[in-house]
Amino acid sequence: MTLNISVIGTGYLGATHAACMAELGFDVLGVDVDPEKIDALSRGELPFHEPGLPELIRKHVDSGRLRFTAEVSEAGSWADVHFICVGTPQVKGGTGADLTYVDAATAGLVESITKDSLVVGKSTVPVGTAARLSRLVAETKKDGLNVSLAWNPEFLREGFAVEDTLRPDRLVVGTGSEADEAVLREVYAEALGRETPWISTDFETAELVKVAANAFLATKISFINAFAEVTENVGGNITTLADAIGFDTRIGRKFLNAGVGFGGGCLPKDIRALQTRVGELGLDHSMKFLDEIDQINLRRRKKAVARAFELLDQDIVGKKIAVLGITFKPLSDDVRDSPGLDVAARLYNAGADVAVFDPEGNPNAAKRYPRLGYVDSLTEAVKDAEVVMLTTEWKEFKALTPADLNDLVASKRFVDARNVLDAKEWESAGWTFTQLGRKFEG
Ligand code: NAD
Repeated sequence: MTLNISVIGTGYLGATHAACMAELGFDVLGVDVDPEKIDALSRGELPFHEPGLPELIRKHVDSGRLRFTAEVSEAGSWADVHFICVGTPQVKGGTGADLTYVDAATAGLVESITKDSLVVGKSTVPVGTAARLSRLVAETKKDGLNVSLAWNPEFLREGFAVEDTLRPDRLVVGTGSEADEAVLREVYAEALGRETPWISTDFETAELVKVAANAFLATKISFINAFAEVTENVGGNITTLADAIGFDTRIGRKFLNAGVGFGGGCLPKDIRALQTRVGELGLDHSMKFLDEIDQINLRRRKKAVARAFELLDQDIVGKKIAVLGITFKPLSDDVRDSPGLDVAARLYNAGADVAVFDPEGNPNAAKRYPRLGYVDSLTEAVKDAEVVMLTTEWKEFKALTPADLNDLVASKRFVDARNVLDAKEWESAGWTFTQLGRKFEG
């Protein structure tokens, strides 16, 4: 008999996981407290942008293998395995993780469980959470039922979420028993059949693997951006430097692109939550370096804004600046803690006339910063602009040539805040062209 699977929380992670579990052949029930999300998903519509996912949702809503509900009790009486995929955002007014949603989702679910089942946490949580929730499950489950908890952190990348879920590069499971591990082996049988590395461990390691991976990636980005701070003062080419060290296979070239830094709903809040958690454990010194990683990252946003000021001789008020790209990365509509959006807001607050264009992110950005000038096309954004700024490396922006913009802009001034265009090409077309990590002499 195949397992029935429920997915609690159907945001970026949960909707993807639910659709992919259906694709793997399971019957799946997605649960969310947001009725609009449930309505959209039940119609086979995805309320956010993720390549390939709308097709998968529609396919399995149509096949009947994927259903959605706002009633967690439906999941409790039906599923054999429940994946907890709710958010763990940065706590308001602090730096730790807000565990309200994970706690409420787990408690509400366990209360409704009426059959033997396994609760599997996928959300990114501070070390110690799984052990605490495991005790909660044991203490609050109905008498006579066999209900336990496992932790199975998720490593998917937005923009590649379907591929990463169906073909993960590794699977990490923290379980309290061999029986629970066996259930997860059944869930992931297809990936295991392809010899996907399977890391079976304790709760603490499973929780820490996820934040360690994100801390490492954040460190790599801030490492190259720290060198960018040097090269933009002393001269030198930060991209050449990254290429050169990246050839060393111990280092590798990925995540060494200097620019306006990292953002999104994971890396920034995860490194802050990790620092906060180890601080609670009396180990502040161990993760102290992450504070510097965060600071380097945030300085890049200020630097991008400063470049616009420099290009305009500090006279920014009323000047039209086109900001291209305000999602935290391409192929997503996610604007959580997005560097590009932050830069646009800072320019607006400094008095600039900001014209924002993003292929997918404008609606989400408008909810956060309604006052920015959002436009529907690249042409509208750059028309009569005094400065053009590239803040997210969407492929259509990476493909830009001077000829595309020469006749549209008011002044040929460019800030390539992602280091993705060919400086020589733009300079020889008469542009004052600057990149982060590159010295600018005005
Ligand atoms: P999200 O905000 O997109 O989705 C969270 C969903 O949970 C929302 O739809 C919300 O309505 C729902 N929810 C909240 N409380 C609930 C409850 N009690 N019952 C049912 N639903 C509830 O967040 P996300 O980006 O999907 O992230 C979820 C978790 O996954 C976080 O811990 C995040 O760090 C982790 N994660 C995210 C990604 C990613 O790329 N987005 C990758 C790996 C891990």
